[in-house]
Amino acid sequence: MAPPETQILNFSDEAIEKAAELIRAGQPVAMPTETVYGLAADATNAEAVARIYAAKGRPSFNPLIVHVLDLDTAEHLGEFDDQARALANEHWPGPLTLVVPAREDNGIASLVTAGLETIAIRVPAHPAMRALLKAAGRPLAAPSANASGRISPTRAAHVADSLGGRIPLVIDGGPCEQGIESTIVAATGGPLRLLRRGPIDIDAVEAVGAIEAPGMMASHYAPAKPIRLDAKVAEPGEILLGYGPVAGELYLGDNLVTAAARLFDFMHEADSAPEPRIAVAPIPDEGIGAAINDRLRRAAAPR
Ligand code: AMP
Ligand code: MG
Repeated sequence: MAPPETQILNFSDEAIEKAAELIRAGQPVAMPTETVYGLAADATNAEAVARIYAAKGRPSFNPLIVHVLDLDTAEHLGEFDDQARALANEHWPGPLTLVVPAREDNGIASLVTAGLETIAIRVPAHPAMRALLKAAGRPLAAPSANASGRISPTRAAHVADSLGGRIPLVIDGGPCEQGIESTIVAATGGPLRLLRRGPIDIDAVEAVGAIEAPGMMASHYAPAKPIRLDAKVAEPGEILLGYGPVAGELYLGDNLVTAAARLFDFMHEADSAPEPRIAVAPIPDEGIGAAINDRLRRAAAPR
């Protein structure tokens, strides 16, 4: 596909309709939020989510925050206990992200959660992001709208500087009110855990329950089985994830966006297959392939 010409449109009803069309077509769109500009895509469409990573040139897959209109919708995606619900009622819409256990069959692509059993959810307050959520009618996965390694954008011009020519549309909603990423709190049973500091006052979170601040690093899913990389054929006892010319029991596809979209589903599938080991075909180390290889190397590293 030719690189898209990046359009910048001021926030308006027509601009949101245009953005919603792109979202429905599986394309990422840069959107203002009250924290920073986000690169939003349909969270239920794995290839759309893979295009976020492709556009950012991110060399790794981190779990992404899913944006929805309200707590009711959020409760279809994740399981909220009393503490999580109290925090949501207090701070949503607003710059608080809650990590909760994911509901099975919530329709969210596994690339969004990077294969984890938890999901990060936020209800944004910014009118442009809310308008897009309404118009698109689906949950939106959105990391910051900057190329990998660049700082988070707080103006449409920052987005254009770093992602121009890589995404079709930026909605300009003026400068972001907060300018820093959302506070992230995990409510997954036991004490609340602070995963990232942000605009929300932590005293206000502590009012709901004791909060711990562990290493602040999200854990990552990796299969329990040993993994062998750069495999051209399966050895006895291996289930092979194929790519390109290498066929396998599970075929990642013949292009990197599709392979990224399928990666976590297939790792889970391979992990629960009867074969005791997993082999993976060579994946070109270019574009989003670098993120796939980063994830595979971590999964294959001795533990
Ligand atoms: P960004 O989308 O760039 O603001 O980054 C999202 C942040 O949320 C990252 O720091 C992730 O590690 C964190 N995050 C997203 N999902 C989860 C999850 N399921 N568990 C823990 N942390 C998460
Ligand atoms: Mg970021």
